[in-house]
Amino acid sequence: MARKCSCQICKTKGSTDVFYKVTDDKGKNKYYCSKEEYDSFMKDKENREYLIKYIAVDVFNYSEGQIIPPILLKRIKELNVFYDYEVIYECFKDSKDNIKYWIENKGFSSEYGMVSYIMKIIESNINDIYNKWKYKKSQEQKKKNNDLNLEIINEITEIKQVKKSNNILDFLDEEDV
Ligand SMILES: [Zn+2]
Repeated sequence: MARKCSCQICKTKGSTDVFYKVTDDKGKNKYYCSKEEYDSFMKDKENREYLIKYIAVDVFNYSEGQIIPPILLKRIKELNVFYDYEVIYECFKDSKDNIKYWIENKGFSSEYGMVSYIMKIIESNINDIYNKWKYKKSQEQKKKNNDLNLEIINEITEIKQVKKSNNILDFLDEEDV
């Protein structure tokens, strides 16, 4: 029987027979407005983990398990209000050598000072990266649309061919009579 539930992500209230159900590893059912919302949430989570790991390992040369300064996590979260984690990742990748250079040569006396400096580098670079990313995404979307159009055209051609062969059969039947 359907029960009331609310979306784990956006807290919208709904019903268990309509909402998208995911059973977690403890066997507990969790509900989401739609599969799309759930998928994009999980993708985002994955992208965030990827980014954080990249910063820890590739930028800071941290050992496994060593934590990133919380102030940096906070600043990244603020960036993510507008920029996708993918964009922030690309930006860190692009600025990596620059950031590493300053960490080694600037002699920061506090983590706060270091993070502020890193974020200045990121912020001065991120719109260029964002524009490139946006362009790439639009090209991908265009390609997807083209593929879809092609698929539809193929389908229509197939239907036409089937119809044609049916007509021929009809014709033959009449001739036979
Ligand atoms: Zn929702």
